[in-house]
Amino acid sequence: MNVVLMGPPGAGKGTQAKRIARKLDIPHISTGDMLREAVAAGTDLGLKVKEIMDEGLLVPDDLMIDLVRERLAREDTRNGFILDGFPRTVEQAIALDRMLDELNKEIDVALLVDADEQEVVKRISSRRVCPECGKVYNLLTIKPEVEGHCDRDGSRLIQRDDDRPDTVRARYRVYSEKTEPVIRYYSGEKGKLVKVDGSGEIDTVTAEIVNHLENAKHG
Ligand code: AMP
Repeated sequence: MNVVLMGPPGAGKGTQAKRIARKLDIPHISTGDMLREAVAAGTDLGLKVKEIMDEGLLVPDDLMIDLVRERLAREDTRNGFILDGFPRTVEQAIALDRMLDELNKEIDVALLVDADEQEVVKRISSRRVCPECGKVYNLLTIKPEVEGHCDRDGSRLIQRDDDRPDTVRARYRVYSEKTEPVIRYYSGEKGKLVKVDGSGEIDTVTAEIVNHLENAKHG
């Protein structure tokens, strides 16, 4: 099953993507995580994208398309994948269709995890991440066992640079301008869009997604 996952920043995309990937036993491909790893490792790509990400803007399409093309060519995607955070522009969506066509594959479901702006701002301000392993916490809902420290490796949790309020507002603007047209791209004649309300309980949202994916598989 080949799935793309979209949604405004903070709707719970990443959390749901990880759960669904584990359940379906397919790789979770998060372009945001790939870029953050490149920044942390100080690679050429990382140096190019750091400032763009800190401002909440989009990394140029050609860089993103190359990154995803390379990743999708890997063997572990043969039974499917869940793409989290890509495509974010119509150009990326068209390029994705082309590269999948070459690999004799297609997107089965485009999943939109939606949430209203108020809910999302609240969530993002309480989001913390482990700088070592990338595990995501929330001070209100997914609390660490020991306050301020990662359950896995004990590292001190930090706030993502782009989770600061002014950057969150910029990411929102970018989402409405560039990514909402992608939602229309999948909902139009392709009829691949499935929408879930991301503001519910994490488990409820996961169950709803699994249900939709099972229907899509058998339907
Ligand atoms: P995310 O973790 O998905 O919210 O992504 C964090 C940041 O990485 C975004 O605000 C963008 O700056 C960049 N990014 C991630 N995926 C893409 C993409 N498909 N196209 C452009 N920029 C991206």
